[in-house]
Amino acid sequence: MKIAADLHVHSTFSIDAEDEMDALCRRAVDLGLEFLCFTDHYDLLEEDIGYDYLDLDKYCRALEALRVEYDGKLRVLKGLEFGEPHLFPREFADIQERGFDLIMAGIHSFDSCFIGDRTLLERFSREEVFEHYYQEVLKLVEFGGFDVLAHLDLPKRYLGAPEGQNGLVERILSSLVKKGIALEVNTSPLRKGLAECSPDHEILRLFQLQGGERVTVGSDAHRSRDLGSGLRYAAALLERAGFERPGYFYKREYLPLEW
Ligand SMILES: [Zn+2]
Ligand SMILES: [Zn+2]
Repeated sequence: MKIAADLHVHSTFSIDAEDEMDALCRRAVDLGLEFLCFTDHYDLLEEDIGYDYLDLDKYCRALEALRVEYDGKLRVLKGLEFGEPHLFPREFADIQERGFDLIMAGIHSFDSCFIGDRTLLERFSREEVFEHYYQEVLKLVEFGGFDVLAHLDLPKRYLGAPEGQNGLVERILSSLVKKGIALEVNTSPLRKGLAECSPDHEILRLFQLQGGERVTVGSDAHRSRDLGSGLRYAAALLERAGFERPGYFYKREYLPLEW
């Protein structure tokens, strides 16, 4: 079983990424991927390092050109990773008009700093950080209007796991199911030496038990050498958690991938 789609990839349109779109597309072709979805950061919180960095017009033009250039070799999908869209409803409404295939949303911030910043643990317990984080994710999901929830349990990647499972996780997962929002399996923790994707197996299993069927897989690569990494691992994880197959979004519509 093989997943030939990486649906979470950053190019130099993101402040924290290294490689240009074209280099990433060439690498995707070399790897034999069928789909590559660019999801560059769109961040409007002032404390975020990517604040106001993305030139949306230029980004959309570059994606349209790549679609044409790679036609027949690679399906380039037009995506976006919007940070905290529930706090920016006007900008979020504008984004809906720009012809994206996939809009991914996530929470990256807490107490005016990055959610993975270890200095947070000087001011809060790990459980408090997670409690706040999941509360914010729940608000985001209830706001809705996007296609994929990025890296649920993100702080774990940087701060370690809290004691026990947070009760908010089930509410988040059932809200995803109701709204038809897909849960992302993000493989980047594997590159940090962890033995889990984000979210972990337990959360994926809970999602499946709650009737969740929509899942996408992405590496969250910020450089070409990380592109496509962990896809095989994610496939095994999804199978173990009882999912039939992952999917992708084209013109905001969820479609199953072939295994
Ligand atoms: Zn993210
Ligand atoms: Zn990302």
